[in-house]
Amino acid sequence: MMSAADPNRLKLAVQKSGRLTDHSTDLLVRCGLKFSRGKDQLVGFGENMPLDLLFVRDDDIPDLVEEDVCDLGLVGLNVLEEKRLEWIARGHEPKFTILRPLDFGRCRLSIAIPEEMAWTGVASLQGKRIATTYPYVLGRFLRDKGIEADIVTLSGAVEIAPRLGRADAICDLVSTGSTLLANRLREVETVLESQVVLIRTPVAIDPIKTEWVERLLMRIDGVQQVRESKYIMLHAPRSALPAIRRLLPGSESPTIIPLEGHPDRVAVHAVCRENVFWETLESLKAAGASALLVLPVEKMLA
Ligand code: ATP
Ligand code: ZN
Repeated sequence: MMSAADPNRLKLAVQKSGRLTDHSTDLLVRCGLKFSRGKDQLVGFGENMPLDLLFVRDDDIPDLVEEDVCDLGLVGLNVLEEKRLEWIARGHEPKFTILRPLDFGRCRLSIAIPEEMAWTGVASLQGKRIATTYPYVLGRFLRDKGIEADIVTLSGAVEIAPRLGRADAICDLVSTGSTLLANRLREVETVLESQVVLIRTPVAIDPIKTEWVERLLMRIDGVQQVRESKYIMLHAPRSALPAIRRLLPGSESPTIIPLEGHPDRVAVHAVCRENVFWETLESLKAAGASALLVLPVEKMLA
């Protein structure tokens, strides 16, 4: 299936097609990667970095990285944590490492119950049947809470299990909650908060490749930072500077530029590491600022 491994190239596993695919490749493209996808669509060849993408099912990503078939992988914590607990239960101590939490693929693994079922807290699950595709994560949750319940492990369509009489409650992924609503289920308890993480193999990576891992991490940090960052420019009376500096969200020392012909006025330029909302602009204006301009930041390197 896979082409002979080139020891000088990094292999990064990403989801082949699903909710994580576009965000994963988008992140890498923002990090400067240009890649071409081969005919089989399984491998993305990095044209300007010694890094190839392997497109696989997200469930296979933890194994590929733990077994060092891939150096790196992008996978949801929900999948990773389920695997980790399964490995431990089977006597394998996992050795991969999480390099970075990433800002996408956010969802939560939650307990949901039929609308009409009474709920007085997790104790209401005592003795109940709970359908899930995450038996290990759910099992740990129930143990931690001291609840004894039957875990009904399914491979999909968990949300219809109560209606089919196969379970009293479910434990499934939720992001907006619309699927639950459509199935007349009510979310009552969060079991795990999830987002995508970048993981790396437990095996030592060749020094040449390590350099690229470091570079990639630096770029990922830059990409994550600019998402929220804004470049803000404004004019203000010198006397208003202290007030204005207090209002600029998450900025380092701003650049203060004199304005030709206006000795008591300056231009202020600053990078704000948080989103700049209308409220902030209105407060800045009230503090004496004018000619306000907010620009997106394209790239950033600390
Ligand atoms: P594959 O064929 O790769 O196994 P899949 O059906 O398991 O695909 P997707 O539905 O594409 O997976 O979800 C992949 C991941 O996206 C999930 O494991 C989770 O980390 C994340 N995710 C984010 N929001 C949601 C959501 N609302 N429902 C399910 N998964 C979500
Ligand atoms: Zn999957």
